[in-house]
Amino acid sequence: MLVSDLICPETKTWIVDKVRQILPVNEKDVMSIRPSKFGAGDQYNWLLTKSGEYIAKSGYQAASMESSKKISHSEGLEDFNWEKEVWNLACLPKIKFFLWELLKNALPTGANMCSRGINLTAVCPFCGQDETQLHLFFHCNFAKQMWSQAPVKHLLNIPGISNLRLGIEGSRKLICLPPMGLNDGAFGAWILWTIWTSRNKLIFEKKAISPSEALTQAISQTREWILNQTPKNLTLHTPIPQEGGEVDSNTFRCFTDAAWREDSQSAGFGWIFSGNPLIPERHEKANSHHIRSPLMAEAIAMLLAIQQASDLDYQKLLVASDS
Ligand SMILES: [Zn+2]
Repeated sequence: MLVSDLICPETKTWIVDKVRQILPVNEKDVMSIRPSKFGAGDQYNWLLTKSGEYIAKSGYQAASMESSKKISHSEGLEDFNWEKEVWNLACLPKIKFFLWELLKNALPTGANMCSRGINLTAVCPFCGQDETQLHLFFHCNFAKQMWSQAPVKHLLNIPGISNLRLGIEGSRKLICLPPMGLNDGAFGAWILWTIWTSRNKLIFEKKAISPSEALTQAISQTREWILNQTPKNLTLHTPIPQEGGEVDSNTFRCFTDAAWREDSQSAGFGWIFSGNPLIPERHEKANSHHIRSPLMAEAIAMLLAIQQASDLDYQKLLVASDS
């Protein structure tokens, strides 16, 4: 059976009775997905990679993340908020995985290699002291300089960081100063990641960079990542309709809005067509169930309005939503 067997070929909507009969347990989840209006074909998609293609590395990370939520936490982490401090951070999945390893004391630092009898002489490549995780990421001079030069409102209180948990919780609370344009919360994670990559470059490639160069790298990587998360064509190239701005008289203005109820996962939509002096203003409304978020509700309001504009054969349309 294919997903398309559950979709009506004419209306491109779910065949409710069939979904209910074949997937009764998943009915709500299925109904909250809007099938493609253009009849897109079925395909497998792995959600944890950008391309949608499964790779073993990402599967391993997903499995590790999943198991970390289930296994009892190591000492001092019983009440640690993994969702807030790690999994929900706005950064690359590999950095979240790295933070998880860091908190589990699982990174192959000198001290960890020593304790496992792998390399008894490994020391901190920056200063030659014992390379514990706490030392490398917070107490080593290299790390201290990075933290002290970070463009943040209140610097991390390094002497008060007596364990990794305090360090990670503290770094998440850093507030970036404008006009750096960095998202709060995840910048500390990028600094930790850069300390780790700088350390590895020094050990394995014999390439040394200064703490300030490493900090610049952390800032530019954070920025680059944030920019890549923003759909450029939506934010940069879409003209923002201005009330009273220059719009030719053949263009219909359309204002859409939606109200969403979390408890019932339902939404009401409203839209108005106006702007053409020859045709009276047109007010429309609709509602629907199985709506998962306010954003989805706003998107559906726009979709309904555009569909109707197409049915009414409006040739030019300017759509404005409040979200
Ligand atoms: Zn050191």
